Amino acid sequence: MTSSQAQGIAERIDAVRTRIADAEARFGRAPGSVQLLAVSKVQPAQAIRTAFEQGLNAFGESYVQEGCDKQADLADLPITWHFIGRIQRNKTKTIAEHFDWVHGLSDLRHAQRLGTQRPAGRAPLRCCLQVNLSGEASKAGAPPEALPELFEECSQVPGIEVEGLMTLPAPADELDAQRQPFAALRALRDRLATPTRPLATLSMGMSHDLEAAIAEGATMVRIGTALFGPRH
Ligand SMILES: *Cc1c(COP(=O)(O)O)cnc(C)c1O
Repeated sequence: MTSSQAQGIAERIDAVRTRIADAEARFGRAPGSVQLLAVSKVQPAQAIRTAFEQGLNAFGESYVQEGCDKQADLADLPITWHFIGRIQRNKTKTIAEHFDWVHGLSDLRHAQRLGTQRPAGRAPLRCCLQVNLSGEASKAGAPPEALPELFEECSQVPGIEVEGLMTLPAPADELDAQRQPFAALRALRDRLATPTRPLATLSMGMSHDLEAAIAEGATMVRIGTALFGPRH
């Protein structure tokens, strides 16, 4: 990583922080109520270190082995690691052992494996249930009608904690169109939440649509390209 590459990351982090703060102000959200999760898939460990030095401490990885390799390189840093990729059955143990959060949970059997495989003595694995609203880009996630049962069942699983909901909509250009799936996720959360299970986290919004997500109540935006530049 050259110093101009590091400088580029620092400048993009500033720009993303400004976008988040502007959206909070524009849409009546409390300042600082939206957490920035830096999506570092495909980026080298040194890019993560640079971002950490700029004050970011939560990073999202999509591929289990790649994420673990970078964790080993960065073991000296107090980073919170989020697994945001698709969960494969044969990877649940590694995920349970190496990550703090999982965003793409939509299968009770995966939840049970993750909970059982979570090492004793560690805090529960914090999970978001992924919802497949129509047109979801990745085709992953549970359909909204399956959510009440999935939420109820996953809430009973020891070793994991259901913190909220996540979605990954198909890209749209206009703000109004971008807002629709995020509004739907929020409405679903509002229907399911109870005082003891508030589902406080709404993981939604990426580089191109973070404003729309913040408008609809995102508490965590997952940002890759806008922080690190295009992925190669
Ligand atoms: C890659 C990825 C992101 C980040 O996307 P950008 O458009 O680069 O900001 C967010 N969420 C998930 C689940 C991803 O896979």
